[in-house]
Amino acid sequence: MKKLIFLFISFLLIFRLSAQKPKYIFFFIGDGMGLVQAKITDEYFKEQYNDSLSFLRFYDNGFQTTHSASSKVTDSAAAGTALSTGFKTNNGSLCIAPNGKDSLNSFTFDAKRKGYKIGIVTSVSIDHATPAAFYAKAAGRNSYNDIAMQLPNTGFDYFAGGTFLEPISERGNAFQNLKNYGYKLVTSPDSLRFIPGMNGKVCVLDPAKELYYGIDREAGRFTLAQLTKTGIEALFNKKGFFMMVEGGKIDWTSHANDPASTVYETIEFEKAIREALDFYKKHPKETLIIVSADHETGGMALGSTLTGYAANLKLLHQQPMSNVAFEKVITQEFEGKEVDMEHAMSLVEKYYHVGMEGGIEFNGYDSLRLQRACEYINFPEKYPDRREAMKLFNSNKNAAKFAVKDRLPAIIHTMNVILSEKAGIGWTTHSHSGVPVPVYAKGAGSADFNGFYDNTDLSKKIEVLFE
Ligand SMILES: [Zn+2]
Repeated sequence: MKKLIFLFISFLLIFRLSAQKPKYIFFFIGDGMGLVQAKITDEYFKEQYNDSLSFLRFYDNGFQTTHSASSKVTDSAAAGTALSTGFKTNNGSLCIAPNGKDSLNSFTFDAKRKGYKIGIVTSVSIDHATPAAFYAKAAGRNSYNDIAMQLPNTGFDYFAGGTFLEPISERGNAFQNLKNYGYKLVTSPDSLRFIPGMNGKVCVLDPAKELYYGIDREAGRFTLAQLTKTGIEALFNKKGFFMMVEGGKIDWTSHANDPASTVYETIEFEKAIREALDFYKKHPKETLIIVSADHETGGMALGSTLTGYAANLKLLHQQPMSNVAFEKVITQEFEGKEVDMEHAMSLVEKYYHVGMEGGIEFNGYDSLRLQRACEYINFPEKYPDRREAMKLFNSNKNAAKFAVKDRLPAIIHTMNVILSEKAGIGWTTHSHSGVPVPVYAKGAGSADFNGFYDNTDLSKKIEVLFE
């Protein structure tokens, strides 16, 4: 009798384990999306749209560390390598070991050999560190042409994102290479609907090198959700598929400490996850959705010295556009001219609704900060110390230059600081932070993602799912 019970329990356990292995695996990576980016977006989403982030309600969740082999604060290349290969490496290295020689293999190659279809999707250029970690190797993450030339060798089924940053070099022409390997190239949203019928390897590339910022909503352009939905249709097959989808610009807006754009990038990412959730509803026993990040960016916090126990996320609604779009506006206004404080103030009033009902209220200190930004632009000799300027105006790329145009972002950064403070948002850095990031999982085998583990272990948890 005991033997029978033992056999019965063993059978149940084996059946449960085998039944849990997913065929369709989604790995969503919000680049730079820490706990706070998600929490602030969720609160804002609730207030403005009476909606919420689906993945925050996934039943299973854990945390992964993010440090790299060379630093407590990782970059996206080292983090992407840890997530795709299960090995840590130095910042800047893409699937090359810390010794600079040995190559590390992404589990996507193994999955492809086993017959799974593979999709790599991103909102930034397809040769950027995070997507590249799943299909290429490079001692330096900026070897964009080298990375692009490796893409078609993989034979992976679906690539989608912004176009190549460096399509042509002496190594070759990345577009010609795509063609040589039999990839079909799609560059307009109107053509997406033909992809499922193409029955072959496809590369979708937005000519603008990146998708638009969610806050800027440009009609007629690709969205991350569209690229994810098309990917599902293109990859669907009986054996199974793996699709990595990166929300790459949560990182960019967080680097800029741009509060509202960070929220809207996270909403774009959420919309892509909803496409996977729709698929999950049709194939609940065979689908696994994992949502995580490669690291946090900006050291974002909910709560600031200025607002104490209050937060006013509604204020973010007053930000009209991304820092990048606003830079275009002020460049048009001021290029080659002295930046007049009154003119700058009138622009800020117009676009950020300063002093209007429900808008941002400027105090004396805020005006002083804007005035300093104008001085910084007009009189570079007043701020000769590059690091000092970096701290004040986040003009780290351009602080060494003295042209007015290169210093204009000081106005934008000042507005980011003022708006963040008043909304109750803090930032500690314009780089990444070293905190662990959450992992949210739903579907077949999701319980395996509970707990606190290393980023290399997250990779290993996914790697063993391919049969
Ligand atoms: Zn970054």
